[in-house]
Amino acid sequence: MCENPLRALPKMDVLLSHPTLVSARETIPYGLIRQAARDTLEEVRRTVLAGAAVPPVDALAGEIASAARALCRPGLRKVINATGVVLHTNLGRAPLAPQAAEAVRAAAEGYSNLEYDLDRACRGSRHSHVEALLCSLTGSEAAMAVNNNAAAVFLMLSALAAGKGVAVSRGELVEIGGAFRVPEIMEASGAVLREVGTTNKTRRADYERALLSQEAQALLKVHTSNYQIVGFTEDTPLSQLAGLAAAHGVPLLCDLGSCVLSPAALPALPAAPSAAAALADGADVVCFSGDKLLGGPQAGVVLGKKRYIDAMKRHPLARVVRIDKLSLAALEATLLLLRDPEAAREALPVLSMLGARPEDLRGRAEGLAAGLSAALGPDYTVSVLPCAGQVGGGSMPNEALPGFCAAVTAGPGVPEGLEAAFRRHAVPILCRIHHGALLLDVRTLAAEDEAEILRAAEAVRETSR
Ligand SMILES: *Cc1c(COP(=O)(O)O)cnc(C)c1O
Repeated sequence: MCENPLRALPKMDVLLSHPTLVSARETIPYGLIRQAARDTLEEVRRTVLAGAAVPPVDALAGEIASAARALCRPGLRKVINATGVVLHTNLGRAPLAPQAAEAVRAAAEGYSNLEYDLDRACRGSRHSHVEALLCSLTGSEAAMAVNNNAAAVFLMLSALAAGKGVAVSRGELVEIGGAFRVPEIMEASGAVLREVGTTNKTRRADYERALLSQEAQALLKVHTSNYQIVGFTEDTPLSQLAGLAAAHGVPLLCDLGSCVLSPAALPALPAAPSAAAALADGADVVCFSGDKLLGGPQAGVVLGKKRYIDAMKRHPLARVVRIDKLSLAALEATLLLLRDPEAAREALPVLSMLGARPEDLRGRAEGLAAGLSAALGPDYTVSVLPCAGQVGGGSMPNEALPGFCAAVTAGPGVPEGLEAAFRRHAVPILCRIHHGALLLDVRTLAAEDEAEILRAAEAVRETSR
């Protein structure tokens, strides 16, 4: 009769007293090492029963140590974005300016005057920290900030249009990122969607009919952030809707999605939506994201006429969707920077990445390619290729940002194996695969990322030895 193969597995206490795991106890709590040992042994038992050989005890101990280290690591961690997509929603959208990150740290570590008026020694409003800045940057009468733009749209509709008909063009019933759909958010807010026009053409008269028939008591314009309707199209601009809304005494609401607060800081994207322009065109309330083209933290920024913003601040949902102090600190610091377009272009990563000049990107791609080629060794072919970056975050999908990448075009495991090795690096590196090559777009890399990428490449070379 065959011997039970599991008997060759080392016992738990023998494993735990292995020198590797004894020294691991200096940095990892013992409970986590035990948990990792149980999990690893469980897994090995399964493979041994399926016919695999029992691994040597040193290898087992090493595996347990790395499993225990993984248990210590936070799930949410820094990654390196080599995709060239600047506002990558899956990667946290806008990286903050150093000044904004510092403001977050200061607000996080201690107490702050979040809702305290230091001059009058009484309760204050958290909106006060950004309201004056937002108004001076955009010419708005009043402003507030909430948790994100979806919350801003929800609060705007709940406070200003619940129980009322809201006319929206059939060409603007957008879905953003799967979860935010205009018809659904409208229904949840208690406003009644009145679709007007058609998918490709919506005229002033379509909105007017909804107002004249009393079907609509508000107008909503939604920026079609993540798609374009092309061909035979007609769209009614805000300026025309403003006249109509004023004549009928109804509010004109605008979900701008993404917005450049200081157009002078981003000359490379002339078509980027502007909140100041929307207000000047006559929108009564405008809202947009803090972490898209604005380049700040997750937030929903609301601008507009004081009586509407006041109604939104007073609404019970304002508390439900309120912005937290860390985001507020980052938003204020970002807005302070945006007052000086020159300085903002330097300090705000989103603006500097979007505004990067192709010739500079080519130089950086050449440097990265040379470093990668040296680190990966002679088995790999690395070159510099032109590539198209993207704005991302569902913004300006047809805007290709001309740039350059370091491309690993041939070598062991290129592209899938190398992509996986980079993605599983201690600081995960996320790249794009295109036509069988692994592309690292330098547009979205921070200065310090390059050294980490070279470390990952050296590790690839080590393991393939
Ligand atoms: C992105 C976007 C939203 C949602 O904004 P979040 O900040 O992700 O909540 C809503 N409307 C439009 C038009 C958008 O582009």
